[in-house]
Amino acid sequence: MIRAQGVNHIGIAVKSIDAQRAFYENVLGARFEGVETVAEQKVRVAFYALGPESNPVRLEILEPTAPDSPIAGFIEKRGEGLHHVAYTVSDLPARLAELKAGGVRLIDEAPRSGAHHTRIAFVHPKASMGVLTELCEPMGEHAARNHP
Ligand code: ZN
Repeated sequence: MIRAQGVNHIGIAVKSIDAQRAFYENVLGARFEGVETVAEQKVRVAFYALGPESNPVRLEILEPTAPDSPIAGFIEKRGEGLHHVAYTVSDLPARLAELKAGGVRLIDEAPRSGAHHTRIAFVHPKASMGVLTELCEPMGEHAARNHP
């Protein structure tokens, strides 16, 4: 079982972060936290935070940096919009082992490192009604702060 403790963040695919910033900053009123390029994934990511600063829900705005980026493929097939929902979990390796034992299709059978001091893994979208599901475990002091 995933045993989700909350929504950690929501990933949204866009053609251009710069073209969408006005919406997130001026319409939604989210706090801009910065932009990161993840070269190996061929993606640029803008982070926004909503809610309490001690335990925010984040938005990851994902922009492809190359035509063969997975995000470019997603936008081509499905258009801009919701890309994934990330749930906060604890003990990610145990969650993955449980899901695998239960026959749930996984993209990642072992955790990898994510942004903001987390480790993450993806469940296959075929296992979750086409919405890509990310499991996200805050690490170190962030874990303590997120799970008082
Ligand atoms: Zn994510």
